[in-house]
Amino acid sequence: MATNPKRELDLSDFPSGTVTEYTTLVCLACIFDIFTKQLGLAPRTAFSEIKRHTPTIEELTSRATMRPYFDSDEKHPHCPHCGSGKRWLARFDTCCIEGRKTTDAPRRALIKKLPQAGDQFLFVDKKSDSRAVFFEWLDTLRVNLDLNDETWLVAATRNYLERRDPKTNWEEVFTAVRAVRRSSRIAEGWERDGARLFLPPKIYGEALLIQYLVSRSHAHGGLTLEGRLTLLELIRRLRYFGYLDQIGVVEREPGEVFEKIIEHLAATQDWSATASRSNRTEVAKKTSKKSSKKSSKTRKSKKTPPEPEAVITEAVKLHYIVDRRDFLEKVKSVYASYA
Ligand SMILES: [Zn+2]
Repeated sequence: MATNPKRELDLSDFPSGTVTEYTTLVCLACIFDIFTKQLGLAPRTAFSEIKRHTPTIEELTSRATMRPYFDSDEKHPHCPHCGSGKRWLARFDTCCIEGRKTTDAPRRALIKKLPQAGDQFLFVDKKSDSRAVFFEWLDTLRVNLDLNDETWLVAATRNYLERRDPKTNWEEVFTAVRAVRRSSRIAEGWERDGARLFLPPKIYGEALLIQYLVSRSHAHGGLTLEGRLTLLELIRRLRYFGYLDQIGVVEREPGEVFEKIIEHLAATQDWSATASRSNRTEVAKKTSKKSSKKSSKTRKSKKTPPEPEAVITEAVKLHYIVDRRDFLEKVKSVYASYA
């Protein structure tokens, strides 16, 4: 591929937080074993079948992999199932691009640049929704942060701001930032004073929420810039910040309030687009009226999750690009040494 010397895809044109990358290793010794022993194919047939093989999107993006796939952070990984080393291991790189207005053009440009011949790349589109995308984003964030290093709180805030407003150069804003504070002097945007970054109450509140969501399974409650908080304490703060009024949450029951907040965080993806934001606020207000009637009935049973139809989600298209180049090369070389 003289025309394409770069192996890594250049994803720098995509707004931050819109692309998730996954790497899955596949053991050719195991896969060959499966094709010959379990499926009973002759070695030659097995190899030509394997060449056509591509794992499912679930297999490529799941955090719990099954033979012949595995994940490894090691520099010289070995197959956990059979112990095979480098020569037998191939890599699938998958990137998942969130379908939005801001990613359409860079996605088309990227696909145009990729070699089309020989199934080196596979393109799969899947339907998803804003909520699933949001939780996948949170999950990726959790995996990439070291929760034992307390600077993660600032890092999580930055990641959130990057997702919220991709037009600002947050890397530059955050270069010297060591602390993030709430400031009621500002209503929008941000302010920096030396190592301190000041955020308006609403955005600061959302940063706390993200921190809570990232760390809540890690410890009792969730860890935030305001210390360890239970859901109730977090909601109390958000109410005090005026955040709940601002996003039109009229519910009182913590579980319902939480659901509404998640809906809001997940739904306002194109944060920078003011027009669509105000549309969404209207939608949220309408439905909150409806569900406030229901809330009086459900108040008794505190743990009842909200009915699925009460949750507003937006349809989101996910565009997967699977890089099969390493796999094809490894299959070829393994076959060459075998035949
Ligand atoms: Zn193996």
